[in-house]
Amino acid sequence: MNGYVKQPFMVNDLVVYPESPGRARVIDTDCRYELETSRDSCTCCTFRFGSMRRRDFECRHIKALKKVLNGEIRPDYLP
Ligand SMILES: [Zn+2]
Repeated sequence: MNGYVKQPFMVNDLVVYPESPGRARVIDTDCRYELETSRDSCTCCTFRFGSMRRRDFECRHIKALKKVLNGEIRPDYLP
């Protein structure tokens, strides 16, 4: 369960770097912006505005983190 911590995962154009179970740094490779993301929060402005309208809003960083936590993404360096 802890195998994914401290390992980078590529999810489309994002790099998800889990720091602890349920919490990660997410780097947007487009804008080289580093975000702090958990299952229900993110420091990006999309989430800030989206969550004002909907409590369960998920930005693409949260979606990417959930994919990693669900085991859908394998670490970048594995075949
Ligand atoms: Zn976000």
